[in-house]
Amino acid sequence: AQQYPDWIWHNGAIKPWAEATTHVMAHALHYGSSVFEGIRSYVTPDGAAIFRLTDHLKRLYQSAKIYDMALPYTQDQLAAACREVIRKNGLAAAYLRPVAYRGLGGFGLSAETPIDVAVAAWPMGPYLGPEALEQGITACVSSWQRFAPNTIPAGAKAGGNYLSGQLIAREARRLGFGEGIALAAGGLLSEGAGENLFLVFDGVLHTTPASASILTGITRDTLKVLAREDGIEVVERDIPREYLYLADEVLMCGTAAEVTPIRAIDGKPVGAGKAGPVTRRLQELYFGLFDGRTHDKWGWLESV
Ligand code: PMP
Repeated sequence: AQQYPDWIWHNGAIKPWAEATTHVMAHALHYGSSVFEGIRSYVTPDGAAIFRLTDHLKRLYQSAKIYDMALPYTQDQLAAACREVIRKNGLAAAYLRPVAYRGLGGFGLSAETPIDVAVAAWPMGPYLGPEALEQGITACVSSWQRFAPNTIPAGAKAGGNYLSGQLIAREARRLGFGEGIALAAGGLLSEGAGENLFLVFDGVLHTTPASASILTGITRDTLKVLAREDGIEVVERDIPREYLYLADEVLMCGTAAEVTPIRAIDGKPVGAGKAGPVTRRLQELYFGLFDGRTHDKWGWLESV
């Protein structure tokens, strides 16, 4: 059975996990009206640190702005809540989940409900499985497309978006693949169910643009910065599906997925069918941030 941490932050206070409840008529439960973040903390040589906490919380407020949700806490208060749930639960390496949602206070779509806020933290290993980081995963192109830019804004990390992610991820797992990759409404590559994509051609990294209905991930941004710093060229461009089959390397990235090689797509091997040199280098640089091999000159590690 699922194990839960002891403590959670809910509407301004630390509470026992079981007491952080909400009403069944909360707006968010019916209409997907929540915004959230996924953040990781790592054990570093200088102690536990939350990776890019400020950038994640900034995105949370941006997502909330899109849906006219005025969060009743300042960004500093939520940053303090993130640190508090990690400490209170005795965690160091953890996954953090701040969520703000429309609570009980009206049943209409445009109801001005109270905005409830919670922050949970729990231990989480590699999201796509223990072997994923080393061996790479298999993936398929989903039969489900991502939502078009004029339907649901992919740039907001909102609960309702994850209906799309669930369809993509569940279909992939049902068919025996590790993860699903979606095409955007126009037919070009978008992203994974919960991860951004990079393809490697002749040592150059290619990633899909914001116009491809992606969440512009913080891991994606991190890899762009680390790669350029390391002399690896990065381009953002429209990518047709078949490039997945022709790339030397393909990788998925995200807070949960970290930097995961893809070894086969739709049953075709990607490159040599295992993690390639650019992916390996990006893994080294990324995980190096946490074990001290990559100097954090950007101030991305924010101590717990
Ligand atoms: N795309 C989607 C749909 C996601 O859910 C995530 C995970 N938050 C990402 C991309 C990667 O974003 P990040 O690197 O900020 O975690």
